[in-house]
Amino acid sequence: MILPVIRYGHPVLRKKGARIETITDEIQQLVADMFATMYAARGVGLAAQQVGHALQLTVLDVRGVKDRPSQLWLQGHEADVASFMPLVLINPIVNPMGKPVKGAEGCLSFPEIYADIERPDEVDVIAQNERGESFSFRAGGLLGRAIQHETDHLHGILYIDRMSSAALDEVKEDLATLQAETKRALAAVRAR
Ligand code: ZN
Repeated sequence: MILPVIRYGHPVLRKKGARIETITDEIQQLVADMFATMYAARGVGLAAQQVGHALQLTVLDVRGVKDRPSQLWLQGHEADVASFMPLVLINPIVNPMGKPVKGAEGCLSFPEIYADIERPDEVDVIAQNERGESFSFRAGGLLGRAIQHETDHLHGILYIDRMSSAALDEVKEDLATLQAETKRALAAVRAR
């Protein structure tokens, strides 16, 4: 089922996600719905907060992007990115590696708002999959960036928090408009 994507201005986007201790049927359904929602919106990643659940859960798939390469290492060996997709990260721990690089980012919770964000070019990740099994890997390029963007969501951190003041200045008006629209929509729901 495709879920509505929560937009900037909704308080759930600022909530830290709770750890998932047990993979229940509800969690499995949520994972399936998050993938359906992400693919429908043509995104490469989606965090649970973006569909209204403050949980340590994100889904990713970079296969749809051809012009921005991703890298993957398993046990120190370079591995095939496509066969590692789609990717479910539950309770992920992300350690930044490598030098900071700039790259363009958007967010499904911020339609049409893009900016260059500086992040480390590689990350080491330990997480559980949708069966509750632990796994670890190193990711770089677009995948490394997307993982950092999504795991930030799990801690209530948004890409606007990582924009330079110049980049933030450029999108300031669009942000204010989006936030006001979301708050109006929330108030209308409450008034019903
Ligand atoms: Zn996002």
